[in-house]
Amino acid sequence: MTTIADELTARAAELDAADPLAPYRDAFIGAESPLVYFDGNSLGRPLRRSAETLGRFVHEEWGGRLIRGWDESWMELPFRIGDAIGRSVIGAAPGQTVIGDSTTVLLYKLIRAAFDAQRAADPARVEIVIDTDNFPTDRYLVEGIAAERGGRVRWIDVDRSAGVSAAQLRDATGPATAVVVISQIAYRSGYLADAEALTRIAHDAGALILWDLCHSAGSVAVQADAWGFDLAVGCTYKYLNGGPGAPAFAYVAEHLQSRLAQPIQGWMGTADVFAMGPGYTPAPGIRRVLSGTPPIIGMLPVRDMVDLIAEVGIPAIREKSVALTEFAIALADDLLAPLGVTVASPRDAAERGGHVTLQHPSMRDVTARLWTQDVIPDYRDPAGLRIGLSPLSTSFAETLAGMRAVRDAVSTITS
Ligand SMILES: *Cc1c(COP(=O)(O)O)cnc(C)c1O
Repeated sequence: MTTIADELTARAAELDAADPLAPYRDAFIGAESPLVYFDGNSLGRPLRRSAETLGRFVHEEWGGRLIRGWDESWMELPFRIGDAIGRSVIGAAPGQTVIGDSTTVLLYKLIRAAFDAQRAADPARVEIVIDTDNFPTDRYLVEGIAAERGGRVRWIDVDRSAGVSAAQLRDATGPATAVVVISQIAYRSGYLADAEALTRIAHDAGALILWDLCHSAGSVAVQADAWGFDLAVGCTYKYLNGGPGAPAFAYVAEHLQSRLAQPIQGWMGTADVFAMGPGYTPAPGIRRVLSGTPPIIGMLPVRDMVDLIAEVGIPAIREKSVALTEFAIALADDLLAPLGVTVASPRDAAERGGHVTLQHPSMRDVTARLWTQDVIPDYRDPAGLRIGLSPLSTSFAETLAGMRAVRDAVSTITS
């Protein structure tokens, strides 16, 4: 007799056997262990090849070339890797994407530059539009920039299990809007915004839009050029597996570059870095986004992952991502709904990114318990367990094992 448990095990095995991307799992350190990793959307697993990349860099480039490394290749690396992200991850032609500072610092620089440019062109444009459930750093920065520049924040109040809709953005934008800041994928719910449609709405209102791609770069389609993005910033330590604190990337559409005056005027953003002249003259192109010395070591693992993404292609990655989240939701319905757990993410795959949030009053305790059992999701208020399913490093069997562990933890804690 086969039980329901056997059937689920067989189903996960079938899905893994039919998955064309299954072999890529071995490219990641730790994937061979029984540990269940549901947090690749917060910190991706390291690629095996990155251990070699970093070792080789320390011995050969840093250790061997020393200061000559800057002239030989490091100075160009932020632009090289930026262009590779543009090509393989976010649909941007060369010369518009660069690796810079942390996400927070790049967001600050670009939002403020965009605000200033807009208000200089039209003094009535004093509002920054952002949703109440955007990532905390985005919200705090916008509040700070509005206070610092004498602007106003226009909040869009969103449903925490969804994200910003077209109708909401239309209502919130108009002749007073300078800049709109939205995350393509909401960090809490996993809601996937229609970036092309929302960009058009912002433009119809005469606003610029900045897309936060932290949870989308490397997991879903992004067409920065084709969708008419103005500005974007994204993390590299989530689905781009750059490692803890890896520097972020910024995209600035070519036609905007000369209009933006960045607020942190450092020597690396000048037209002629080694002229070391008396005053600041911004570089004409994307270089003007930089401020200080680029964090070279932190961007090397990013290059490895972007190379892998280029090999696999975002369409195949997205297909696997959808299959993983569909499977997780089906398991939540089978195993967890009877315990009172609800799905707080969109059920329509077209509106969902690479993670699924499950709600139950016990989830804070459930998360702590699971971590001691080597099952690693994360917790987000209110009562949300985030199941992040990094497409290239997560298997269906791992997803099943993790969801069973969630079921056992919820039932133990609530009994
Ligand atoms: C992860 C994340 C950040 C993180 O910013 P840091 O400066 O790297 O800490 C910002 N925004 C969003 C939407 C994120 O998901």
